[in-house]
Amino acid sequence: MSQPLRQPVHSTLDLIGNTPLVEINHVDTGRCRLFVKLESQNPGGSIKDRIALSMIEAAEQSHKLKPGGTIVEATAGNTGIGLAQVGVLKGYRLLLVVPDKMAREKIEHLRALGAEVVVTRSDVGKGHPDYYQDKAKKLAAGLPHSYYINQFANPANPAAHERTTAPEIWEQMEHDIDAVVVGVGSGGTLSGIGRYMKRVSPKTKMVLADPEGSVLAPFIKTGEMIEAGSWAVEGIGEDFIPPNADLSLVAEAYSISDKDSIDAARLLLSREGILAGSSSGTLFAAALRYCREQTEEKRVVTLVCDNGNKYLSKVYNDYWAFEQGIHKRTLKGDLRDVISTRFESGGA
Ligand code: PMP
Repeated sequence: MSQPLRQPVHSTLDLIGNTPLVEINHVDTGRCRLFVKLESQNPGGSIKDRIALSMIEAAEQSHKLKPGGTIVEATAGNTGIGLAQVGVLKGYRLLLVVPDKMAREKIEHLRALGAEVVVTRSDVGKGHPDYYQDKAKKLAAGLPHSYYINQFANPANPAAHERTTAPEIWEQMEHDIDAVVVGVGSGGTLSGIGRYMKRVSPKTKMVLADPEGSVLAPFIKTGEMIEAGSWAVEGIGEDFIPPNADLSLVAEAYSISDKDSIDAARLLLSREGILAGSSSGTLFAAALRYCREQTEEKRVVTLVCDNGNKYLSKVYNDYWAFEQGIHKRTLKGDLRDVISTRFESGGA
């Protein structure tokens, strides 16, 4: 065992953050050294535990949240799990509005944590009464002792990453980072890490990994808002620009297809033994693309945003990939070879 033994802690709240960093050694990363930060090892299984704690503590301090109150949120699942995880220990009730494309396992996890889950449509945009954010806002307005915590505009979201995620990366990378590859759901990760790096390491570039169909990467490249499409990857990509997403921090942006995201997530598992969610696949695919474009040696970091356990019936299920049109046929048995060959030839 190469790591020092961890001391006992008071509660799982003390286990949020301080996540490990692993170097990618079994995939071709071009001239880069590529590292992934395992946010999947937070107690709720995702990067969102950090913002859940930060947003709840900020709401307690400003008296927006009182003992026994109800937290209302619109979430792709992980923020909800983080909030419920913290809520269990702090005694808050949870009412969550989740779009119906999200993995069943996330919804079951939320319900097991005692949260009330309202599942709504994934196929409608801002302004529609069934749109998950509008619905959450409306539910909160009609519920006494409730607080709509709103990760998309809550400053305690990016602040959590500026205060914890970014300095951890900075220390773990020994103060030498050329690029950080992130996705944007609420924009908290981008803005928090981006602001910190701008201050302490101006050479560090923020690179956006965005699903094909999302408006963010096209907006960064052209300044134009496209009409949003749809994508299977969960937790990143947007049909609007969240107030918490400071896109001016982005130096380079990649649009990544569902297929490349899924293939990259599977590669991360089959080569490095890291079981990650779909958004981590998008980030890993973009990081590989960025790394392989570099002509000089670089040190690059990306994130494993959440644990792949909740996607076993999707990302890691050949039949699901086939049904989604992501893989042309079920590639049972030889899937690993097909994916490896494609990535090894620089196809990612
Ligand atoms: N990955 C996953 C799996 C997520 O659930 C989210 C947040 N919805 C993100 C990445 C994006 O992080 P952020 O909200 O900080 O932009």
